[in-house]
Amino acid sequence: PSKTNILHDSTYNKGTAFSRDERDKLGLSGLLPYKVETLEDQLRRALRQFRAFTTPIEKYIYLSSLQERNETLFYRLLVENLVETMPIVYTPTVGEACTKLHEVWRSSRGMYISLEDKGRIRRLLDNWSHVPDIIVVTDGSRILGLGDLGCGGMGIPIGKLSLYVAGAGFHPVKTLPVQLDVGTNNQKLRNDDLYLGLNRDRVRGEEFYSFADEFLMAVKDKWPKCLVQFEDFSNDVCFELLEKYRNKLLCFNDDIQGTGAVIVSGFLNAAKVTGIRPKDHKIVFFGAGSASVGVADQIAMVMKLDSDKDGKQVTVDEMRRRMYLVDSKGLVTKSRGGRLEVHKVAYARDDVEEELTSLLEVVKKYKPTALIGLSGQGQTFTEEILSLMAENNEKPIVFALSNPTNNSECSAEQAVKFTKGKCVFASGSPFPDVTYEDKVIKPGQGNNMYIFPGLGLGAVVSESKNVSDLMVLTASQVLADCVTEQDLKKGDIYPSLASIRSISVKIAAAVARQSVKEGLCRLTSIPDDWEQYVKNYVFEPAYAELGDASQLQ
Ligand code: NAP
Ligand code: MN
Repeated sequence: PSKTNILHDSTYNKGTAFSRDERDKLGLSGLLPYKVETLEDQLRRALRQFRAFTTPIEKYIYLSSLQERNETLFYRLLVENLVETMPIVYTPTVGEACTKLHEVWRSSRGMYISLEDKGRIRRLLDNWSHVPDIIVVTDGSRILGLGDLGCGGMGIPIGKLSLYVAGAGFHPVKTLPVQLDVGTNNQKLRNDDLYLGLNRDRVRGEEFYSFADEFLMAVKDKWPKCLVQFEDFSNDVCFELLEKYRNKLLCFNDDIQGTGAVIVSGFLNAAKVTGIRPKDHKIVFFGAGSASVGVADQIAMVMKLDSDKDGKQVTVDEMRRRMYLVDSKGLVTKSRGGRLEVHKVAYARDDVEEELTSLLEVVKKYKPTALIGLSGQGQTFTEEILSLMAENNEKPIVFALSNPTNNSECSAEQAVKFTKGKCVFASGSPFPDVTYEDKVIKPGQGNNMYIFPGLGLGAVVSESKNVSDLMVLTASQVLADCVTEQDLKKGDIYPSLASIRSISVKIAAAVARQSVKEGLCRLTSIPDDWEQYVKNYVFEPAYAELGDASQLQ
């Protein structure tokens, strides 16, 4: 490779921003137009190009190619325009990109490991030329709400890692997206002559677990400090994978733990707004799937810790009694007959006089202080239910968390209108501000982006052995504390995403401290000032002065 290759090296490339001196020393003179630009100049151009594309998928392709060309510029564009670029780099546009990966394919990024590599995965890892601090891995089996997208699912690890870099300051070369290709049951993809993955039925059961195990053990062997984040594995394997490996290596599942943490954080602040302590809330969950149970488990823990403050020794199980889960058949009880799925057992009630089959009946009977929707069913928090919540509570908590927007249990506007402006509201998808009696209400968004970058960063900088439940809970609490008293008075329960980088540093420092507390931190000397330590690790997308080619790796 010649040294002019630096123009094609996305890590070091500065394009038109190479100074005259650098151009001379690096042999780039004559290879660039006259003007020496600043990163700001380039940023203006890139933003103009980005905005000139009309369809989201074109914007996605544009950003991907910018990432291949000049990472500094790409990440600077993301960091400074996060609210505008996030829906492109991540959901919803990334979903479209995953569906069409084989059509829009340009160049490879990350690692694709297929079933046929079984037996040689450890050697395959040697083909990766950097030492990653973080891997995001999927098998493409449940991509967002889109189901099985085979090897197209790779778009998710790629997008998520871009957010780890932009939102927490991981160094781009220390991130590794991985797609475990175990086939796909998506016939449409398999019939497409351009499909790029393994063309066979998706493998599950023992064969799947032993393949996943070979990969995870290979990672642990080659990169023992690396964090593995599981992403978008379908419900039939995601819980088991997490349980199997959470004590064996540094890992977490964002769909389960990250979601729980971000909703718990919103709940902690909502509780402050209502003036009712966490332990005294009574919650109805609409939906009893993986998301509901994940959130309910973490809220039960938060309630228990709150109760501990009074010197009362209650168990998490006792706190689970303060929750009522409603699924497609109605209130989840032990007595209702039929099959009771394993994840619902801890919440199935044995204290009901009659079986209730609708959400309305449950709300009427139990008068909850909070209503949390994770059902995937749009328009189910009706006017009647919402007004009932407002009759029973001075400040009812209403979280309509199902995605995308048309699956939301109600809109922000409906929640505000039907509770006469009383509710504390959050949603999964973003809603515009609502004006009610001259008051502007900003709906909160329970976006996982608030938690995973900082949680991951804290786990990595502390070289933690595992990601413990209390590390996750710490992340929720710190996020909740990022909202000021003043904002709480306005009813805001989440901080602004624009300050994600400073939020992530705070979360990371607290998570690292918790890791030390639990004896999980593997650093030989423990820093006094974790915030500073985290800040020293953080990557800032800016150009460094490049002396000569010998500096480059
Ligand atoms: P899931 O495992 O499929 O669970 C869905 C649950 O909803 C099931 O318990 C199902 O009942 C219940 N349900 C379906 N139709 C219903 C109806 N008509 N009435 C009452 N209950 C009904 O899905 P999930 O992974 O938990 O996700 C659920 C939703 O949460 C999705 O829309 C997702 O977008 C959203 N979510 C949001 C966030 C976030 O905001 N950050 C994070 C994760 C998930 P059965 O058990 O009887 O089938
Ligand atoms: Mn996910």
